[in-house]
Amino acid sequence: MPKPKNAMEIFQLLDKSNCRECGEKTCLAFAGAVYQGKRKISECPKLDSRTVNRFSGPDDDVDNTFVEGADFLEQLKTEIAAADLAEAARRVGAQFANGKLTLKVLGKDFSVDTEGKLYTQIHINPWVAVPFLIYILTGRGLPVSGNWVSFRELKDGKERYALFKKRCEEAMKRVADTYTNLFDDLVHIFSARQVEKQFESDISVVLHPLPRVPLMICYWQPEDGLESSLNVFFDETADKNLNADAVFTLGVGLAQMFTKLSLRHGFDEARSIQ
Ligand code: SF4
Repeated sequence: MPKPKNAMEIFQLLDKSNCRECGEKTCLAFAGAVYQGKRKISECPKLDSRTVNRFSGPDDDVDNTFVEGADFLEQLKTEIAAADLAEAARRVGAQFANGKLTLKVLGKDFSVDTEGKLYTQIHINPWVAVPFLIYILTGRGLPVSGNWVSFRELKDGKERYALFKKRCEEAMKRVADTYTNLFDDLVHIFSARQVEKQFESDISVVLHPLPRVPLMICYWQPEDGLESSLNVFFDETADKNLNADAVFTLGVGLAQMFTKLSLRHGFDEARSIQ
């Protein structure tokens, strides 16, 4: 990490809009707090991931697991090779047979063997593989409570919500606004189920990116001069069955996947990556 010489060097990188989304009154105050080590540069949601990574230290981990997912993935595979997969399968409610642990990711089988090798019916990329391995290594296997909470209410969520909102909820909303029918199709081909009656919106579904880490997406179309809105909710156990970084990665990764698929405009292609 190149250590900034002073707060102004950090200030130069910022949007300078004084939008206050980071919780500071001005960009300059935020730059000062970052320089003093009181805030992380990744807490400004206006910065792109390249700048965040360039100026982030090892503790500034907002989405390093995602951006540097491939490296982190290799590290996790090594940890899997040293783990007791039979015990892990009992803990997280997975199956263990013939040296492979298997569980469902978005309704499809996803497996890892005792050497850390991955097997899946869906396309493997870090956003799905990293949380999958963290779930196996550290998940507590708590039953889903049925109590939905926003990302903000999960561990460390308050500080990171602005970034999560930008990269997950707003990114998904853009897809839903532009390709509303396709978005509806997309969430359903990933084995989404309807939400309980009281949570119904124009498009409302529950996805299972991991068996005990469900995610509920609620989208409202624009109406009577009101803008559209989209919110993502997690079960209140999400940060215990997965760690906070991995929950973040999962949400942002899903948003990226929907964006990518919608840009191709193709329902058939969406099916083909499964
Ligand atoms: S969120 Fe970023 S752009 Fe907005 S005030 Fe804070 S530092 Fe400035």
